[in-house]
Amino acid sequence: MFVVMRSGATEAEVIGVKGLILAEGLTPFESTSAGRTLIALVGEIGRRREQLRTALEAMPGVTAVTPISTPYKLVSRELQPEDTVIRVLDAAIGDGSLTVMAGPCSIESRDQLMETVDFVAAHGATVIRGGAFKPRSSPYSFQGLGVEGLRYLAEARQRTGLPVITEVMEPSQVDIVAEYADILQVGTRNMQNFSLLLACGRAGRPVMLKRGFGATIEEWLMAAEYIASAGNPQIILCERGIRTFETSTRNTLDLTAVPLMHHLTHLPVVVDPSHATGKRWLVKPMAIGGVAVGADGIMVEVHPRPDEALSDAEQQLDLEGFESLMTALVAVHEHVKDLHGDLVRVDETPVVTGPER
Ligand code: PEP
Ligand code: MN
Repeated sequence: MFVVMRSGATEAEVIGVKGLILAEGLTPFESTSAGRTLIALVGEIGRRREQLRTALEAMPGVTAVTPISTPYKLVSRELQPEDTVIRVLDAAIGDGSLTVMAGPCSIESRDQLMETVDFVAAHGATVIRGGAFKPRSSPYSFQGLGVEGLRYLAEARQRTGLPVITEVMEPSQVDIVAEYADILQVGTRNMQNFSLLLACGRAGRPVMLKRGFGATIEEWLMAAEYIASAGNPQIILCERGIRTFETSTRNTLDLTAVPLMHHLTHLPVVVDPSHATGKRWLVKPMAIGGVAVGADGIMVEVHPRPDEALSDAEQQLDLEGFESLMTALVAVHEHVKDLHGDLVRVDETPVVTGPER
């Protein structure tokens, strides 16, 4: 549940409410919505619910105490009806603009990265991507350049002025990755690596959380809640396909997740058509589909010579393919951007997935 303070509530009143919450062994999370201070209670409330509610309602400065019906609290639309906008360098993610994260699957060499970023930056990318620590299904495959790759990424930021995103695979890597990257990426295989989520939550950088390939919408939101509960509300969700019985594509892109997530959470949502399809020629149509259903942007893999790529050769776009994608995507975004308010049904009560927990 969360406490709604009256507008103009004093600092002492806010501190009073937080003190009561802390005294119960719970954590207060403060935010603002429509000019009012909200304080969410996070922790195991259990049977104290009614008693706590009465006590909080009686506190000076409190207008209302409202339950949150979903198990995820901080990331829910119920707590925060307004969209979260993530600002990093000059980029804004979730503000209605088109976010395009582009770059190679793996950083293979300085030249390969610079050639790619010069091109994508000149053709509309807003964030540079590139893997330095690679989660590979085989231990014998290229594992990434590690810290050397991070250094090239920092150089790419200097060169283009764009923020950079890269994957962090384990808690012990968070500090070094956060030193070089503007946005931390948690990959599909790590979506429920809870110690990694908490470490990312403490790192002070925005985090992009990819959907686990076997994760439900609720599990994905609970993973985001872990990051938020560690003090970091700067989270981007990325739908990158889930595993189904279908074998014609690498994964099955769940586009329903985009409007559904926009309904359930205030966090921005991007679509990754590269890992979702695994096939170069399917990237453009599915990127267009993602933007058409309201995604805040896309993440796409681009390589100057995809056939020579050390990872994901079949799905990376070449430079020309990226240019052609951008032309289509900008036009589609222009066409649908004013519809997004209609696509996100914030006026409806969010889906209740079970009893209040
Ligand atoms: C990636 O984006 O580099 C990646 C490995 O993606 P995923 O975690 O979605 O497989
Ligand atoms: Mn890849």
